[in-house]
Amino acid sequence: MSEQQQFDVVVIGAGPAGYHAAIRAAQLGLKTACIDAALGKDGQPALGGTCLRVGCIPSKALLDSSRQFWNMGHIFDQHGISFADAKMDVGTMVGRKDKIVKQFTGGIAALFKANKITTFYGFGQLQPGNVVVVKQHDGTTVELKGTNVVIAAGSDSIELPFAKFGEHIVDNVGALDFTSVPKRFGVIGAGVIGLELGSVWNRLGAQVTILEGLPTFLAAADGEVAKVAAREFKKQGLDIRLGCKVSNTDVQADGVHVSYTDAAGAAQEIVVDKLLVAVGRRPAIKGLLAEGTGVQINERGQIQVDEHCHTGVDGVWAVGDCVRGPMLAHKGFEEGIAVAELIAGLPGHVNFDTIPWVIYTEPEIAWVGKTEEQLKAEGTPYKAGSFPFAAVGRAVAMAEPAGFVKVLAHAETDTVLGMHLVGASVSELVHEGVLTMEFKGSADDLARICHAHPSLSEAVHDAAMAVHKRAIHKAN
Ligand SMILES: Cc1cc2nc3c(=O)[nH]c(=O)nc-3n(C[C@H](O)[C@H](O)[C@H](O)COP(=O)(O)OP(=O)(O)OC[C@H]3O[C@@H](n4cnc5c(N)ncnc54)[C@H](O)[C@@H]3O)c2cc1C
Repeated sequence: MSEQQQFDVVVIGAGPAGYHAAIRAAQLGLKTACIDAALGKDGQPALGGTCLRVGCIPSKALLDSSRQFWNMGHIFDQHGISFADAKMDVGTMVGRKDKIVKQFTGGIAALFKANKITTFYGFGQLQPGNVVVVKQHDGTTVELKGTNVVIAAGSDSIELPFAKFGEHIVDNVGALDFTSVPKRFGVIGAGVIGLELGSVWNRLGAQVTILEGLPTFLAAADGEVAKVAAREFKKQGLDIRLGCKVSNTDVQADGVHVSYTDAAGAAQEIVVDKLLVAVGRRPAIKGLLAEGTGVQINERGQIQVDEHCHTGVDGVWAVGDCVRGPMLAHKGFEEGIAVAELIAGLPGHVNFDTIPWVIYTEPEIAWVGKTEEQLKAEGTPYKAGSFPFAAVGRAVAMAEPAGFVKVLAHAETDTVLGMHLVGASVSELVHEGVLTMEFKGSADDLARICHAHPSLSEAVHDAAMAVHKRAIHKAN
């Protein structure tokens, strides 16, 4: 092993949380190293974590390609556009996705270089005393000492003991790389990943069955949003079965046999060509911590941290999917930046109350803050105002009238407590709610802000006005 190298900050993991921590630390003048073990499809090191390699970005690339194809068959005719024979070349679609991944993972390497971050490609293990031993891909080992160490190891898919990953049973990595459209596609789990990847292959012609264990569809979302989304997904042909407990899978010559008990308790079976297991993700901490580091793992397998992402061990921090809180890239971004700023003596902070959630299906689903169900349960007095996209000129002109925006405000102070959206481009519109809440704004503030006409954002404007029963474009 070569001589120990000293850094102000050593970051383990170059996913969203880790690369934000590393870049911000370097911007603040701290001598920074970042270690990442991941390899891309081409076998070369690829920075950017799950998000850039096999998560957010590649899934959105496939969602956008498949959406173009779906629109040709389902929306173009309304515009008077017809064509003889639309075909999808899956190889070209996946190749385009791979190019985008390469562009963005390469982009992180370039940003590291520009910020003078020393990158180590290999697996890092934290030792006592803030030392990190890195087994590099070239077979050599290096030892780094950080005044501060930031653990940003991310997460891995949960594998079910009776559904081992292989050619026919896959996680997100496999489901982003099919070489043809499976005729029958099964999904275990109607969460974000199950719905997004189920939508991709459904739009391209697969018969998609999603088995969800919970009795409620999208239990975390506002009930009315979930209802509209379920109706639209059904229209698209997604077969979502709730309250289904999968007990076994068996790969046979005619496909994967999936055994489950349905909501009524009856034994059922479906046979599919490919099965995606999307039942959640767990922190990727295997082999990460040597004996005696003092870093604690909680009962959920996450690295234990306080509200400032500090592990309780001097100079050791942890951020992103490997700690508590939502497994979202942008939550990791904010934690990475906050920790770098705290290390530099600045007041880093993450506001968990204003983290937006988005599901990139068609229609999109997005929210920030509390749902009506949560406000009722906690006894907070509130007023709700909602507005349908069917009454928004731009949405109708786009032939995307499904969905609505709902604004929830405190009944006495009028402070916005939540915004819930389902419809076209709501992944962008939700930020009106985020901004309003971040600045402790009221429904009246939002209602008095001029919104461009015609635009989808008018649904937000009218929903805010509807809180006080003064929406212009609907009866109050
Ligand atoms: C299909 C899919 C779609 C998603 N879509 C979205 C979305 O649209 N929006 C959103 O916000 N989130 C989305 N997510 C979630 C998002 O990808 C994660 O929340 C995010 O990547 C977490 O960032 P992270 O930095 O904590 O960890 P990761 O992105 O998992 O990165 C951790 C990195 O650390 C490396 N590493 C781990 N241990 C070590 C070690 N000991 N030594 C060296 N390197 C190590 C790993 O190889 C990896 O590169 C999606 C996830 C999936 C699977």
